[in-house]
Amino acid sequence: MEKTADVIIIGGGIIGTSIAAFLSEKITGTVVLLEKGLLGEGSTSRCAGGIRCQFTTPINIQFSLLSLKIFKNFEKLFRVDPEFHPSGYLFLASTNEEFEGLKAGAKLQRSYGIDVDTLSPEEIKVRWPFLNTGDLAGGTFGSEDGYAGPYEVLQGYVKKARERGVKIYEECEVIEILTRGGKIEGIKTIHGDTISSPVVVDAAGPYAGIVAEMAGVSIPISPLKRQLFTTAPFEKLPEEIPLTIDLHVGWYIRREGKGFLISGPQSEDYGFSLDTDFAGQIFAATHAMQRIPILENATITNSWGGLYAITPDNHAIIGFHPDLQGFLIAGGFSGHGFQHSPATGIVATELIVNGTASTLDIQALSVERFEKGMLNREILTAFRD
Ligand SMILES: Cc1cc2nc3c(=O)[nH]c(=O)nc-3n(C[C@H](O)[C@H](O)[C@H](O)COP(=O)(O)OP(=O)(O)OC[C@H]3O[C@@H](n4cnc5c(N)ncnc54)[C@H](O)[C@@H]3O)c2cc1C
Repeated sequence: MEKTADVIIIGGGIIGTSIAAFLSEKITGTVVLLEKGLLGEGSTSRCAGGIRCQFTTPINIQFSLLSLKIFKNFEKLFRVDPEFHPSGYLFLASTNEEFEGLKAGAKLQRSYGIDVDTLSPEEIKVRWPFLNTGDLAGGTFGSEDGYAGPYEVLQGYVKKARERGVKIYEECEVIEILTRGGKIEGIKTIHGDTISSPVVVDAAGPYAGIVAEMAGVSIPISPLKRQLFTTAPFEKLPEEIPLTIDLHVGWYIRREGKGFLISGPQSEDYGFSLDTDFAGQIFAATHAMQRIPILENATITNSWGGLYAITPDNHAIIGFHPDLQGFLIAGGFSGHGFQHSPATGIVATELIVNGTASTLDIQALSVERFEKGMLNREILTAFRD
């Protein structure tokens, strides 16, 4: 193993590997990525793969637009098919207040040139007759949204990073971060190896807060469980339906092969447990049957739990820590780290290589915002994805 590196990335999920891939194109020095388990085995392998422009803050919309460009060109850039399905995202509102929030969000999205329809319950019923719309106030449909394969995208990043010389080590947990006089000096692995480096990237997903503690700084990132359920093949519905989100209850569904992927609740389960539970399954099934009655004939066949990495304003933290030179944080993506991984790779590369991000203004994602009380505010505050 290398004794020195120019950059060490901790975490081999979608964020760490994206940074490795984009950075490898702009840096001549040594980049080492260390993953405590297997590449992608964390939140990335548990992810639903959703990609949307329908966010309600400028920074998230800008991250989506930049990332979407990369997803659309992914095969050309990374020589792996990301399996992007442009199914669209359909947000459903049950109250007038939620619908007003969706409409305000759509107005903001349109100001960025995004194609979003605002729909009455009747218009929703005409386009997707299988939906129960009786209780709805309205909805929005973003035709550019969809979903892709987390595994495929991860493979694309890893392939590019390896080809360009990034040294990737699996089963290599970082257990210590070495600092001196307010500067990063390197890391120590569980195998006893020490690598010195002036830059360490914390891309440890839900463990990012723990990794920051190793470096002696505190960042507000904590884990939150989310459960997913899949059904057996179900052909009584169209082959392609929009990724449909019931805003009021925080439930969503999309096609997964010939069956469906259905979400559990927006959990209050802060902690590292990945167990699924019966309450989650009841939630998934009840809301599925309520919104799409014909799904009473579907069978749940599989389930898993995964972790969101939550911050106080549900927006990511990207940037160097002000109190520790060389410590770059890229974490806290809630339920949107997969879709924002391309933009994160681009801006993190700029930060490392030039000291500042030029493609996007990422002030809104700085770790200092929490102390300064400059939190981001989604219009749909209850929606944490
Ligand atoms: C159920 C579910 C559904 C989701 N759906 C979507 C979606 O539809 N769209 C979307 O965009 N996002 C979605 N997400 C969120 C998305 O999965 C995450 O935001 C994203 O995967 C975060 O990637 P990451 O690389 O930061 O974290 P991870 O994938 O968790 O990677 C971090 C890695 O760091 C490693 N690590 C931790 N500590 C150390 C250490 N000390 N040393 C070495 N390695 C270490 C871990 O083993 C892990 O592999 C979903 C998440 C869940 C749980």
